[in-house]
Amino acid sequence: MRDTTTVIVGAGHCGLAMSRCLAARSVGHVVLERGEVADSWRTQRWDSLRLLTPNWMTRLPGYAYRGADPDGYLSARQVAALLADYAGASAAPVLTGTTVTSVRAAGGGYVVRTDQGSWRAPTVVLACGAAAVPAVPALAGAVPAGITQVTPAGYRNPGELPPGGVLVVGASASGIQLADELHRSGRPVTIAVGEHVRMPRTYRGRDILWWLDAAGVLDQRYDEVDDLARARNVPSMQLVGSPGRTVDLNALTSTGVRLVGRLAGIADGVAQFSGSLPNVCALADLKLGRLLNTIDAWAGAAGERFAPTTVRSAPLGLNLRSGEITTIVWATGYRPDLSWLDVPVLDRRGRIVHDGGVTACPGLYLIGMPFLRRRKSSLIDGAADDAAELTRHLAGHLNALAGHRVRSAS
Ligand SMILES: Cc1cc2nc3c(=O)[nH]c(=O)nc-3n(C[C@H](O)[C@H](O)[C@H](O)COP(=O)(O)OP(=O)(O)OC[C@H]3O[C@@H](n4cnc5c(N)ncnc54)[C@H](O)[C@@H]3O)c2cc1C
Repeated sequence: MRDTTTVIVGAGHCGLAMSRCLAARSVGHVVLERGEVADSWRTQRWDSLRLLTPNWMTRLPGYAYRGADPDGYLSARQVAALLADYAGASAAPVLTGTTVTSVRAAGGGYVVRTDQGSWRAPTVVLACGAAAVPAVPALAGAVPAGITQVTPAGYRNPGELPPGGVLVVGASASGIQLADELHRSGRPVTIAVGEHVRMPRTYRGRDILWWLDAAGVLDQRYDEVDDLARARNVPSMQLVGSPGRTVDLNALTSTGVRLVGRLAGIADGVAQFSGSLPNVCALADLKLGRLLNTIDAWAGAAGERFAPTTVRSAPLGLNLRSGEITTIVWATGYRPDLSWLDVPVLDRRGRIVHDGGVTACPGLYLIGMPFLRRRKSSLIDGAADDAAELTRHLAGHLNALAGHRVRSAS
């Protein structure tokens, strides 16, 4: 059993940001990583993926982008290289190839078991990713045999898929990007559209994320929103990392992609779609209008407005046995995997309960979840502020523990 002050689980950008902040306070720690540094960017991203956040937004504690292309978008490979460099420059104490198999409370702290031995520490930070596993709905089990099913985490490029039609389920960032790529590969694409966040790539001549950043929208705090549970479930923005290129539903339909409503069920080989498509599109248009109003109010001047989403009559059923669809892409989101946690911090649905990353178990922290402490918490750019605040809390906890020990000894 080895001892340290803080065990960080996961060496993605969040774990590395925490490591940097702890090191700045001279808190001894180790970062345990089952794969390599930035493993999710190496193993779970499709070939053509580029960040939807511009390079200037790739900011971490002690790091800001200084390259020649601040308005460009990094590829997954470039993100992995950047994070590996960051870990090296920070001298982050990362142990790769080390899978954490359980965390349990013991002696006022925690015992962290791994496949490479155990650690004892008074504090633990879970930085193991909000998007650890694709969230595929149970109705995937009703898909007829013979149809290829993939998730964005497993998909690499169109060449790996059989020829024929594709049903993309989900119209957030991954869904619209894959629908666009698969349509360009010459396949007929149908996309099932539920709640989504419509977003233009540029607004008034600037990247939309420049406006969201400048107007403070991304800095909105978790204790400022009316319905935090809802805010934490808002889907990702319909954006693609390509300068000036908007890929919203209108852009997809203009190239021939077919829209259908949310996939509601599969019965006897027939996919059934909700009739709510016009409503969810109208709602997304309305919310986009509100967001642009917020930006205009901040800028003190009105900007352009975008044409409403065009919804033609959409089929409510699609026979999956007809041969029309050969592949289904489940772009239905992701979820964390904390199944190995042996501490009572999960609710009945297996979701971790926390207050801005602080759990009810003293000394156990969480980082990298949607809207953890700010709207930008799930983005690379959100880690610096969250890590700084959690580090302050963690240091306060260590001080309290030390004070307790001194009092007990005297
Ligand atoms: C498809 C996609 C595109 C995205 N695009 C952007 C974007 O454009 N811009 C942006 O800012 N954000 C983007 N994000 C969001 C976010 O930046 C990424 O999800 C990011 O990878 C999260 O970083 P993280 O450090 O929280 O988790 P991860 O990068 O997932 O890192 C967690 C690490 O923990 C390790 N781990 C997990 N369990 C264990 C265990 N039991 N033991 C040891 N190690 C473990 C994993 O191997 C992994 O390396 C995107 C996310 C996805 C899924």
